[in-house]
Amino acid sequence: MECPYCNKNMEEGVIHGDRYALKWIEKSRDKGVMLSAFQKGIKLTDPWMHNEVEVFYCINCKKMIIDLNNKIE
Ligand SMILES: [Zn+2]
Repeated sequence: MECPYCNKNMEEGVIHGDRYALKWIEKSRDKGVMLSAFQKGIKLTDPWMHNEVEVFYCINCKKMIIDLNNKIE
């Protein structure tokens, strides 16, 4: 994947989950980590099925991109 900021090649990698699903939650609705399991959001990992998410990293810009087309549902 090409970095949309600097157009250089991005490094492909993974972030492994822990005991709970990694989830993206809208900032306005975030109630903290204790309640995150009950909050609606975009699940990035699933501890039972696919406990990792593919992440592209640009060493140049220090930015990471997660393509949600690859995410588990
Ligand atoms: Zn970049």
